[in-house]
Amino acid sequence: MSDFLQQLQGFLAASPTPYHATANMAQSLQRAGYTFLPESEAWQMQAGGRYYTTRNGSSLVAWTLPKTAALETSGLRMVGAHTDSPCLKVKPKPELHRNDYHQLGVEVYGGVLLNPWFDRDLSMAGRVSYLNAAGQRCQNLIDFQRPIAVIPSLAIHLDREANKNRAINEQTYLPVILGQGAEAHDFKQMLTAQLAAQGVTDVTDILEYEVVLYDTQPPACIGMDQAFIASARLDNLLSCFIGLTALLEADSDMGTLLVCNDHEEVGSMSASGAQGPMLKQVLERMLPEPEARARMLAHSVLISADNAHGIHPNFADRHDENHGPLLNAGPVIKINANQRYATNSETSALFRHLAQLDGLPVQSFVVRSDMGCGSTIGPITAAELGVRTLDVGVPQFAMHSIRELAGVEDCTTLTTILRRFYTTTEV
Ligand code: ZN
Repeated sequence: MSDFLQQLQGFLAASPTPYHATANMAQSLQRAGYTFLPESEAWQMQAGGRYYTTRNGSSLVAWTLPKTAALETSGLRMVGAHTDSPCLKVKPKPELHRNDYHQLGVEVYGGVLLNPWFDRDLSMAGRVSYLNAAGQRCQNLIDFQRPIAVIPSLAIHLDREANKNRAINEQTYLPVILGQGAEAHDFKQMLTAQLAAQGVTDVTDILEYEVVLYDTQPPACIGMDQAFIASARLDNLLSCFIGLTALLEADSDMGTLLVCNDHEEVGSMSASGAQGPMLKQVLERMLPEPEARARMLAHSVLISADNAHGIHPNFADRHDENHGPLLNAGPVIKINANQRYATNSETSALFRHLAQLDGLPVQSFVVRSDMGCGSTIGPITAAELGVRTLDVGVPQFAMHSIRELAGVEDCTTLTTILRRFYTTTEV
């Protein structure tokens, strides 16, 4: 297996939450010589410098400044993606004890495809706020790693109509089972014990937490020719990884930027989401003078990378007959007349041209005219910044399932195109 695929699988497995994804991307940037600029401090930047910042521990912006060119005349080559994925999130007071079973109540985050969550070996991860022995408020990432929870299906014998019409009630069907026994169970005690196992031993009180369930089955390359990658959170950690790899590999004389936002799956309206001010504020600090910044943005382009729907051979009628992207046939330019995608002919021409320069394939997607269209951070960021934008993505199956499927070839193709985008002198 290539280094790229090995690292991709490692990143997917080590990033069960946006917090972990952001920490892992920060670590890669740090290793590559990028300087962390905390939002709360004064920023000193210089020509040719490489920097990154984070917000809420779940969104990240990384950028490089041009060595010689002026930002206001050369602009920024920007790539955007999102760190969050639909999942089940542990409720604030989650303990349930029913029929001898210890359970946790969960909330649904984003548009989860719920059926595949049943009968999986689940673990939990997130972040925890606690008081330490000195009475200080601290925060730590947590990851149980091992399978500790499950949502068993109801047997078909007890629901003969299951294959025809089993609708899932989010409140009553989804509480996860942790174990059994008469004694009380306490989720905060579980968190304290796990923190201790991770070496955090001075917890005196768990104040709050954000913890989600995830599948412990590791990512894998599958298929007779191993042409597919199967994993949780391909939407959209795949694009985060591809954007980061392209950024780190591009030795660019131009200004480059990667933005990975949280909360795309719930509409992007948050302090760290694409509809929040994070990216705008980074750009303001990069180039404080409004007129110069406006000129920089006029010279800039944003490629919003988020996975697309590949045409499924068993459900081919869900696609327009001329716009059914195939896995492993190239990244997809996403187009929508009603601006659900930010692509226009000018920006998609740029992407197509960049692909052509390396002889790489590109596909295009429009949703069936009688179906609603999804969206991404593309149109939101375009509207916030007024920057030329296009939406692209690797085609995949099973979007928002607990295990999604994409084509290996498309991952490397998109990386190559984005690397070229980062170094191109003309946008
Ligand atoms: Zn997405």
